[in-house]
Amino acid sequence: MAFVHFEDVRKVYHMGDVDVCALDGMTFDIERGELCVIVGPSGAGKTTLLNMLGGMDRPTSGVIELGGRQVSDLDDRGLTLYRRNDIGFVFQFYNLVQNLTALENVELASQICPDPLPSAEALAAVGLEGRLDNFPAQLSGGEQQRVAIARAIAKNPKLLLCDEPTGALDYRTGKQILALLQDTCRATGRTVAIVTHNSAFTQVADRVIHVREGRATSVSTNPSPAPAS
Ligand code: ADP
Ligand code: ADP
Repeated sequence: MAFVHFEDVRKVYHMGDVDVCALDGMTFDIERGELCVIVGPSGAGKTTLLNMLGGMDRPTSGVIELGGRQVSDLDDRGLTLYRRNDIGFVFQFYNLVQNLTALENVELASQICPDPLPSAEALAAVGLEGRLDNFPAQLSGGEQQRVAIARAIAKNPKLLLCDEPTGALDYRTGKQILALLQDTCRATGRTVAIVTHNSAFTQVADRVIHVREGRATSVSTNPSPAPAS
């Protein structure tokens, strides 16, 4: 059984009298340790896919499994623990707490997890060992995204989910973040799923999932992904 397994997942949003079908029988697998990139046009269902996989919401029907555990069956309490313990999130706009230092931001997220990595170590892994006591406003965009990645990794999650992680960064800084995510995946065997419009990501991916009209229209495995740096 694949590490991530989506089987015939449907998600229908009810908007007053109108039903919006965001996922329309989506099926795909991601193997353990893969860097998976999810692409597709706006409105295709990528964010909904990430929300279901991240336990932010439940599908209308279908099966979602992570590491052999059924996520689509969890109750509210189960989903809260799943989001906290099993998933690391990286967003486009970093979402750091402004009045906490880099180190405190990482500690805040990881200290409630059962098996966290040391916060200073996670920050060193993203090249910020010299910036532990800086506040977000004292850091560049790229550095803030590194803090966000350290915060996600320090939870020691089973799966790292990234939503447009370079969307707010310039080309060069974005490339560095891409290389960092690729290193994280390669060096630690951590499974990483990234939603992006940035075509550089598809070139370094082990797997590319194309989403269109709520379905995964093609799932490909890249036999020799290029190094990002
Ligand atoms: P290239 O210029 O190298 O051909 P593109 O940027 O056109 O690469 O597209 C690479 C991948 O990124 C494609 O699979 C495409 O679906 C996705 N992509 C690019 N731009 C967008 C966009 N604006 N919205 C959604 N997906 C996009
Ligand atoms: P993408 O991330 O690929 O742009 P989304 O998953 O955001 O696509 O959206 C897929 C479809 O579901 C769109 O038609 C969108 O308008 C709709 N949708 C997404 N989230 C909601 C929501 N919370 N309520 C109603 N409709 C939604």
